[in-house]
Amino acid sequence: MKSKLHIAVVGAGAFGGWTALHLLERGARVTLLDAWGPGNSRASSGGETRIMRGTYGPDQPYTELAARALKLWQKYERRWKRQFLHRTGVLWMVSSRDDEYERGSLSMLRQAQIEFRELSTPDMKKRWPQINFEDVHWGIYEPECGYLDARASCQAVVDSFIAEGGGYRQIAVSAVGLDDAGKGSLRSLTLSDGSRLKADHYVFACGPWLGKLFPETLGRLIRPTKQDIFFFGPPAGDSRFTDAHLPVWGDHGKRFFYGIPGGDRRGFKVADDTRGRVFDPTCGERVVSEATLKRVREYIAFRFPSMKDAPLVETRVCQYEQTPDSNFIVDRHPQAENVWLLGGGSGHGFKHGPALGEMMAELIMKDGEADVRWRISRFSKRQKKSKA
Ligand SMILES: Cc1cc2nc3c(=O)[nH]c(=O)nc-3n(C[C@H](O)[C@H](O)[C@H](O)COP(=O)(O)OP(=O)(O)OC[C@H]3O[C@@H](n4cnc5c(N)ncnc54)[C@H](O)[C@@H]3O)c2cc1C
Repeated sequence: MKSKLHIAVVGAGAFGGWTALHLLERGARVTLLDAWGPGNSRASSGGETRIMRGTYGPDQPYTELAARALKLWQKYERRWKRQFLHRTGVLWMVSSRDDEYERGSLSMLRQAQIEFRELSTPDMKKRWPQINFEDVHWGIYEPECGYLDARASCQAVVDSFIAEGGGYRQIAVSAVGLDDAGKGSLRSLTLSDGSRLKADHYVFACGPWLGKLFPETLGRLIRPTKQDIFFFGPPAGDSRFTDAHLPVWGDHGKRFFYGIPGGDRRGFKVADDTRGRVFDPTCGERVVSEATLKRVREYIAFRFPSMKDAPLVETRVCQYEQTPDSNFIVDRHPQAENVWLLGGGSGHGFKHGPALGEMMAELIMKDGEADVRWRISRFSKRQKKSKA
C-alpha cells in the first residue's frame, strides 16, 4: 500500500491551522506545529475579533476569496455546531471624494454574489442615528458579513484537526537553514527541543515571523508593523454601540478607521488602519501609543459624538505582517520545491483563512503552482522595473 504523504505545517494561526485541516481532509498525514499555540497573544490571529467583508476595491482576487470563505465559515459552523461569524452586517462609509475603490468594489461584489446594498447618506442617517454622517457621501452595506471570533476559531480549527487524527505539537522550529535543502528540497526541520522532523512537504505559515525564518527570501518583504486597538466603554445601559444596534463599520477618508461594536460585553472597538512602526512580534512590549489614542479619540468625538467622553476600557497591540503591496504570499520557496511559504496577511488575512487553507491544500495535493499575483517573483519584477 502506498504510504500517505506526510506534510509538516508550521504555524497554527488562521493560515496554517486551516491549511492543516484541509490537508488532513484530503487524505494527507499532517503534523502541525506552533511555538505558542493557536491565536496566542503574540500571533496576528490573536485577540477576540476580526472583520469579514467583501468590499475590496476593483480588480483584485479577495472579494472572490471572501465569497468562498463565507461559504466555508458557514459549512464549518454547521459541522461544529458553533457560531464564529456574527452577521451584524458591515457598513462601509465613503468619506473621500475619490470613490474609485468603492465604485470598483460593486461589480466585484456582484460577480462574487456577496449580497450588498448601496446606501445614500439620508438612508444611513435614518437607520443609524448614533453615527454622525457629516462628510460621508454614500455607503456600501453587506448584510451577510460582520465579525469573526478570532482566537476562538483558531482553537476550534486545531481541536477539530486533532479530533480527525492530525498530529499537533506546541514546539518551535528553531531554524530552517536552507543549507538543509539537498537537491532543491528540504529534508528535515530542527525543533526547539533539538529533535528533527522529517516530512515530504513543509508549509510555513508563521505570520509576522516568516521573514525571520527566511531572512534572505522574505526578510525585506514581510514587515511586522505595530497596530494599536482600543476598546471604549459606552454609558451604562446604553446598547446603541453594541452589535444589537450597530454593524461593523469602516470609514474610508483621509485615513481608514474601522470598528466592531461591542459584542460579548466587550467595549466599542476602534482602530486606525494606518501602518505603524516596525515591531518585533516576539519581544515587542504591547503598549499602545498616546499619539494614536489621541487621534482615535478625536475621530470618535466627530463620528460617534455620544461616545466622546467614553472611557478607554481595554487596549491591544497586534501586528500586521505587511508586504510591500499588501497582497499575500503563497509560493514555493525558490530553492526548495517541497517548501511552501504562506503569509503576508497585511492586516486583512483572517477572514480568508478557510478559503486560503483550502487553496493551499489543493496546490500541495495536486502539485500545482500558485497564482502569479501571490508569487514572490512579483517583487523582483517590480525592482527590475523601478531600476530601469
Ligand atoms: C490589529 C489587527 C487587526 C486585523 N483585522 C483584520 C480584520 O478585521 N479582518 C481580517 O480578515 N484580517 C485582519 N487582520 C489580519 C489577520 O488577523 C492576519 O492576516 C492573520 O491572522 C494572519 O494569520 P497567520 O496565520 O498568517 O499568522 P499568525 O496568526 O501570526 O500565525 C502564525 C503562527 O506561527 C507560529 N510560529 C511563528 N514562528 C514559529 C516557529 N518558528 N515555530 C513554530 N511556530 C511558529 C506563531 O506562534 C503563530 O501562532 C488583522 C490583524 C491585526 C493584527
